[in-house]
Amino acid sequence: MIEIMSPAELVRARETGALVANILQTLKSRATVGTNLLDIDQWAKAMILEAGAVSCYVDYAPSFGRGPFGHYICTSVNDAVLHGLPHDYALADGDLVSLDLAVSLGGVVADSAISFTVGSQSEQDAAMIAVTERALKAGIAAARPGARIGDISHAIGTVLSAAGYPVNTEFGGHGVGSTMHQDPHITNTGRPGRGYKLRPGLLLALEPWIMADTAELTTDADGWTLRSATGCRTAHSEHTIAITDEGADIMTLPR
Ligand code: MG
Ligand code: MG
Repeated sequence: MIEIMSPAELVRARETGALVANILQTLKSRATVGTNLLDIDQWAKAMILEAGAVSCYVDYAPSFGRGPFGHYICTSVNDAVLHGLPHDYALADGDLVSLDLAVSLGGVVADSAISFTVGSQSEQDAAMIAVTERALKAGIAAARPGARIGDISHAIGTVLSAAGYPVNTEFGGHGVGSTMHQDPHITNTGRPGRGYKLRPGLLLALEPWIMADTAELTTDADGWTLRSATGCRTAHSEHTIAITDEGADIMTLPR
């Protein structure tokens, strides 16, 4: 299903997006060497509930997971890249952390992810995070009325490939609206001019993610956490954007 948001729903999307972004930035600023992933989850829970928002994760039970998820945020560390199930682990110096958060507020969902390191940061990790952020920017720049999903995919994939990273095509971006995951699917590589034509009112989550030396994933015994098959490090960046008459507006900015 593809939903087109009304102007009133887009106002709510911006409110939801700001909440998601503020929570992610607060968690990033609190996370340090020694922080437990379960504490990050509890901090996220407290901020979501205090805002009167609804977690998209806690009861989430898709066919691929060993659901329900039972937690409020995805915490993916080092070789873990997507759907990281919070568990009893204290962050160590140099850990590369990806936090992915989706909540619903007033019936509209926003979805965003950030990657950062705690303590000291290697040049390779800084570069990998920067590439996902650059790919996200390129995808947003390609998203305007009349363009097609393939134009976004191509823009993202071009940045990832040019930087030398293999691209996994199984998990990517998606439509957002009254629920977290909607059509269209937005692969992180693709051909320009193909796919669904973008129109004002469309909400999309764009989410480039990469693994240093592979496109293959493995799933943890927890049934959720996806890791690089080779154990290499990974990064992930995501924004929810709205297609407007002028182009694309980022909903998940802090304020
Ligand atoms: Mg997400
Ligand atoms: Mg998403």
